[in-house]
Amino acid sequence: MNESRMIVSQAVPLDITLHRQRSELEIKWSDGGAATLSGETLRSFCACSRCRARNRIGTPLISDNSQIDHVAMAGIAGLQIIFADGHDKGVYPWSYLQAIAAGNGLDHLNT
Ligand SMILES: [Zn+2]
Repeated sequence: MNESRMIVSQAVPLDITLHRQRSELEIKWSDGGAATLSGETLRSFCACSRCRARNRIGTPLISDNSQIDHVAMAGIAGLQIIFADGHDKGVYPWSYLQAIAAGNGLDHLNT
């Protein structure tokens, strides 16, 4: 019963659209689902070591420049999101993006 939770969903993105004006990332998944994630949301769930450390000591993660500047593929397994303030350390596996969209991002961030 103590085994770590496995991600059951194997959905992969069929289409990724960055709406820069709204700073929103729209993802259509292979399982028929879709998600729209704001730059602020994505920044608050950034799992890089720096943001994790700041999160642990309670420093707000959201800066004034959490707008999404651009995104890039991080291999085949996820997305790298580059924010307008230059922060580019966040890599978001597909399963993590799905968890964030489903409201379960903290479960991943805290493991
Ligand atoms: Zn970060």
